[in-house]
Formats: sequence, C-alpha cells, structure tokens
Amino acid sequence: MMAPAIRYEEARDRLKDALVEVGRTEIVTRAKALGRIAGRELASGLDLPNTENAAVDGYCVSSAFLANNPDFAFEIAGVAKAGHPFAAVLEDGQALRIFTGAVMPKGADCVMMQEFCLLEDDKVRFPEPMISGKNCRPAGENLAKGEVIIAKGEVISASHIGQLAAAGIKEVPVIAPLRVGILSTGDELIEADPDLPKDKGQIFDSNRPMLAAMIEQAGHQVIDGGIIKDTRKALGTAYQELSQQADLIISSGGASQGDEDHSQAALQDIGAKSLFWRVAIKPGRPVAAAILGQVPIFALPGNPVAVFVCFHLFVHASLRQLSHGVFTPLKPLYVKAGFSAKKTANDRAEFRRVKLALTNEGETVMLPHGRKGAGVLSSLTGADGLAELPFELGEVPEGHKLPFIML
Ligand code: AMP
Ligand code: MG
Repeated sequence: MMAPAIRYEEARDRLKDALVEVGRTEIVTRAKALGRIAGRELASGLDLPNTENAAVDGYCVSSAFLANNPDFAFEIAGVAKAGHPFAAVLEDGQALRIFTGAVMPKGADCVMMQEFCLLEDDKVRFPEPMISGKNCRPAGENLAKGEVIIAKGEVISASHIGQLAAAGIKEVPVIAPLRVGILSTGDELIEADPDLPKDKGQIFDSNRPMLAAMIEQAGHQVIDGGIIKDTRKALGTAYQELSQQADLIISSGGASQGDEDHSQAALQDIGAKSLFWRVAIKPGRPVAAAILGQVPIFALPGNPVAVFVCFHLFVHASLRQLSHGVFTPLKPLYVKAGFSAKKTANDRAEFRRVKLALTNEGETVMLPHGRKGAGVLSSLTGADGLAELPFELGEVPEGHKLPFIML
C-alpha cells in the first residue's frame, strides 16, 4: 500500500524527536578552527578591553575639576601611549597627553580631542566642559568577562577567530566530523569515470559525488558505499554494512513504489524503524527516513534535483542535531517573486530554482533559473537558492513574497 504523503514540517518534527546527538568533540588550534562547528560554548575569561583606554589622541583630565574650573590652564603632567601607561595618579589641575589605546590614568575620566585643545606654553586649556567617559572606551566595551564569544553548534567564522584571539583563546573544542555513509542504487549507474566502458542506457552516477560535496561542505566525512545493484537483498546488506561505521546513511534511487524500487523493502528486511515515507514536496516526494539502531537512514529518490532539495530540507538539519543536539533547518528569507506561478502539483509544496535580481525600483526579486524537471541538475548550477511555493497556495501572483532558501 502506498503511504499518504505527510507535510515536510511533520517530517522534520519526526526527525527532531528521533535523532540523538552523537556528541564527539575534539580540540583544534584557533588557526585550524575556521569553518568548524563549536563543540561547546566559549566565553571570554577577561574584560575586553581589559582596562579603560583612550578612544582618540588628545588630553585627559578630571571632568569634575574642569566643570568647576572652566578656564583653568592645566599643567601637562606627562604622556600615556598605547602600551606605555602613565604610572602616577593625575592630580587636580593636571592634564595628561594621551594617545588612542593608552590606558586612562587614575584621576582622569575624559579625553578632549587634540584638535580642540588650546595649548599655551606647557599648559593646556579646554574650550568646553566634558561629560565623564567622553572619548574613553570602558573596560569590557567589546565583551565583558564571562560573556559568550561563540555558542555550541555555531559555525566558526573569521570574526569568531578574531574575537577568540582578542580573548587569548588558542585551543578550540569543535565537533568531530560525523561519518556519513552514502550509496547509490540503480542498475543503470556507473562510476563517473570517462575511461570506463559505457553501454547504452548507462549513466554516470552524479548523486554520490554531489552528496559527498554537500556533506563535506557541512563539515563532515564521507564513507563511500559505492553503487548498489537494484535488488532488495543487495540494498539491505549495503545499509547494514554501512551502519557498522556510519553515524548517518544516505542512499539515492529506488525510493518510490515501482518494481525496481527496493529501499522500503530493504529497510524493512533489516529491521529499520520507519520515521516516514513520502513527503508532500516537489521534487522529492518518495523520500523516506528510518532508524537502524541509533543510525538514521535517508532513502532519497534518484532524481538529482530531488536529492539536492531533500538534503537541504531534511539531511542538513539532521546532521546538526546529530553533531550538536539542535535540529536547525536552514532559515528562509522572504523575497518577492519576480514571476507568477501556477503550481503543477496542488497537493505539495514546490521548490523552484531561482536567481536573485535587482529591479529598476531597487527591489530584490527572485527569477526562475534553468529548465524545469527533477532530473535537470543543470537548473541548480548557478542558482542562488530555492523558492518555496507553499503547500497552501495553488497560484502565486507576481510580487508575492515567498520563502527563499539561500544556497
Ligand atoms: P529512481 O528514484 O531510482 O527511480 O531514479 C529516478 C531517476 O534518477 C532515474 O532517471 C535515474 O536514472 C536517476 N538516477 C538515480 N540515481 C542516480 C544517480 N546516482 N545519479 C544520477 N542519476 C540518478
Ligand atoms: Mg532506480
């Protein structure tokens, strides 16, 4: 019996409830941390900056003394430069020459920019009063001691690296890459190698290399399960073997209900517990997910665009839940459609490949990209993202805002 298709939100809920964090972490040096996933929360061990310092070049004084003595000619007690603080306490009636980044001396709480200071012999006068803290950077302005630099599960960016360095953190706990087993199934498939003999009707396997690239882009490792023949037995054995080493398994092909589609039967044979089969999306409706022991298995349809869409809708968020315990689907933006569309499938949410463009009015719109069809991989190359024509809408008028998943 053909199972009814569930909404993709429901499919995600089932994954979220079922998937268990793997929780392997490792330590890398900060220099190797770019693009890795933070393995735990990291906070600053000190105030940044550590001391109050000058934000401009100029002269610093006590704002209270200046307020009471507006015309006073201050004695210049010395100089403070970045890295060379003034050791003594500034007394009433004294000012200090100070440069950007220099520690504020005791006895001063504001800095007048040098271009406004009135210098007379070895004295300095100020044209106007200053509020306390003027042109000073307080300690902890950037981050206070104990404030979070990066949360567990965040992808470490260049700005994180800068902030980690500012806090003097050199070693970074990161998520160890998950091991993701991939296999293709289809008697028509051969390795994408032009030197191999190719019979009529055979095609190069493009899903496996594409899946491998998406997995690596998400920061994980691939275990290559190769191309598996279209039999229930071979597929079941392949799933079982991969599950010995993998944290997650992805197959493509043979996911529908045709005579040559064996993934459902194979999953049943090996005792995998089904989470869902068939989701109301286009492309990708035959997608299934199951769990064998602790190992989730995604049985994706064979059409390359369906593989791509299912990966972004389900697998990506699942990898995040496995790696650090949070199921985080890619966040859509809401962007105006620069086209009108009539859905071809009214019982599904449809995902179209689009490119962003700027209109003459300065507005960002999505335009259709490439040729239609779940097998048309060329519609993905060069696309900026996927536009969702939601389940509820049959027709989308031009100018309607739609969810846009940026790639
Ligand atoms: P299936 O889901 O097995 O019915 O396959 C649907 C379509 O996708 C068929 O045209 C297959 O030839 C094609 N296909 C299946 N697997 C792959 C693959 N690994 N690489 C490229 N095309 C594939
Ligand atoms: Mg097939």
